[in-house]
Amino acid sequence: MSFYPICAEYGALPLAEKFAAVTEDDVRRAINGTTASPEDFMAMLSPAAVPFLEEMAQKANKLTEQYFGKTIQMFTPLYLSNYCTNRCIYCGFNTTNNIKRDHLEPEQVEEEAKAIAATGMKQLLILTGDARTKASPEYLESCTKILSKYFPSISIEIYAMEVEEYAALVKVGVDGMTMFQETYNEELYPTLHPAGPKKDFHFRLNAPERACKAGMRVVNIGALLGLDDWRKDSLLTGIHAAYLQKKYPNVDIAVSLPRMRPHAGSFQPASIATDRDMVQNMLALRLFLPRVGITVSTRESPEFREQILPLGVTKMSAGVSTEVGGHSQKGEKVGQFDISDGRSAAELCADLKKHGYQPVFKDWQCLDEHYGEPI
Ligand code: SF4
Repeated sequence: MSFYPICAEYGALPLAEKFAAVTEDDVRRAINGTTASPEDFMAMLSPAAVPFLEEMAQKANKLTEQYFGKTIQMFTPLYLSNYCTNRCIYCGFNTTNNIKRDHLEPEQVEEEAKAIAATGMKQLLILTGDARTKASPEYLESCTKILSKYFPSISIEIYAMEVEEYAALVKVGVDGMTMFQETYNEELYPTLHPAGPKKDFHFRLNAPERACKAGMRVVNIGALLGLDDWRKDSLLTGIHAAYLQKKYPNVDIAVSLPRMRPHAGSFQPASIATDRDMVQNMLALRLFLPRVGITVSTRESPEFREQILPLGVTKMSAGVSTEVGGHSQKGEKVGQFDISDGRSAAELCADLKKHGYQPVFKDWQCLDEHYGEPI
């Protein structure tokens, strides 16, 4: 069985009405239980839970420190290519957007690697648009071989792949995979993804599970909040993470909470996830899945990232450029979206320490002989 039948079952429910029907007693029961069921998760995401945010925050803080300590994993993204064959209507790299397309050659990959490594970063997230001719699995393998000289942990945020393709990347040093479903609303999905391979809802939905099967150490999922009602997508994201955690206990499952940001296209979000909504989302997720990693990116402002630090965050990006070659090349470039937090790795570290948190650059080293010499 895959996650699809579960997703379809929830998709068939009148979720808006169910959220509206949650009572304060349901919320109290959900917060005070030792474990939380999917129904409890729904209660904590509902409008009825808003007056309980302080209570939820205290429990979320305790659970986060219990499972993760006061540590924040640091990572930075590297865009290898912005060629894309998809028409996601909310993205600046959409194939119909008239932007300068770039693709890093091996020597440029090495230059970017050196520039990022000089900041002290050890965990890298490599990204491409969805264009297999410009960023083929073989291209990604060769880039990983270059990058693994500098980074002990390399994750991918690229197009959905087959199990064998993920496994080939694991073999050369990729240890993490991020895949945003964007929205779990199967009816809305084709409107947002009118053309290109990403149009295939099923293939994308099952990609995180294929990555688990392929031997990824970390699998990170999420929805782009704002495409549909944030409560519905947050509910399905948590249920998806719970499904993967239960079925693949040897894989670290993590969730990102990205909100819509300004970009090169004209699409505007269907619903706005406010700061308070974001907080509620994170608290409910932490109480539902105490062991899940939670990533908050530089889409959020420095002030907001610092405010929500104690509530469940385990991973943050820093020193971010969403442009291809943006770490080592100067010039007029277009990023995938605008970032809000432009702090360097050093600046974020200093701020984390100020708040009593330990920034963690690396807590894992692959010693398996299949991956070659340890770095
Ligand atoms: S979201 Fe990804 S797949 Fe969609 S247009 Fe942007 S880069 Fe391409």
